[in-house]
Amino acid sequence: MGLKHHTIIFVPHSRARFRKWRISNRQVKLASALVALFTLGALFVTWRAFTTTVTLEEVGDLRSENEQLREMNREFEQSFRELQSQLSDFEDRTNSLAILAGVEEIVSTVDSRAGAGVGGAFIDPPASYLDVESLARRSERLQSQLADVAGGLEKREQWIASRPAIMPTRGILTSNFGIRADPITARRAFHHGVDISARPGTPVFATADGVVLRAGRIGSLGRAVYLSHRFGVTTRYGHLSKIEVEPGATVKRGDVIGYVGNSGRATGYHLHYEVREAGDSKDPRMFMVDR
Ligand SMILES: [Zn+2]
Repeated sequence: MGLKHHTIIFVPHSRARFRKWRISNRQVKLASALVALFTLGALFVTWRAFTTTVTLEEVGDLRSENEQLREMNREFEQSFRELQSQLSDFEDRTNSLAILAGVEEIVSTVDSRAGAGVGGAFIDPPASYLDVESLARRSERLQSQLADVAGGLEKREQWIASRPAIMPTRGILTSNFGIRADPITARRAFHHGVDISARPGTPVFATADGVVLRAGRIGSLGRAVYLSHRFGVTTRYGHLSKIEVEPGATVKRGDVIGYVGNSGRATGYHLHYEVREAGDSKDPRMFMVDR
């Protein structure tokens, strides 16, 4: 431009006097630099304010996230305590089942439970990972105890199925178990079973689940069947007219094994029925729940 300096004239309205400033190029440059600096400063402050606002938003996010986590933790704690109380309930039921299954020895260990939750979820100390471990241990123990109970129940079921429990035929009890006068010799003799009088050909049933031990002519019993049941119990059926089973066959309670007759040493049509336990003859009337 070539000019060395500029003149600024200030014209007020009320007074007729002008004001003049003479400013050099150098001063103009200085003023421009100041304006630029000021603008940059303003920009910087605005930027800082903007970034600070973002950070505060982040704090807000973190706060709500924290609140969500707290809520999740509360829910977890509640579920955990519900799980604890359910487990206690299962332990109680296992106890009852253990008694039914005849495996009472496990009852004492079931009762030694650790940290069983009892109400007041937010008063109790918070659930720790240690509690989770103890819950896992209790659950594992319960699993093995339930396996014992299942085994016990199966054994009991077998025991019940193997126990003579019904009348072997439909008829009338005519001779009891024990010492009696022999119907043929009239001498006092021990009667190892009971006699049930019935019409010839009346079906004779297996009184419990078992296996046919013998089937055929057996001495004074005539046509007879011996059944072997579990747990050392056997039953004998004598004086049959016809036999329906072969030795070694499996029978279920209620299966027809033969028919009433008078074969062998018999004075009339009747079934001679014996129950033996560990080899000793027992009163069969003790094994007739349907009599
Ligand atoms: Zn008899």
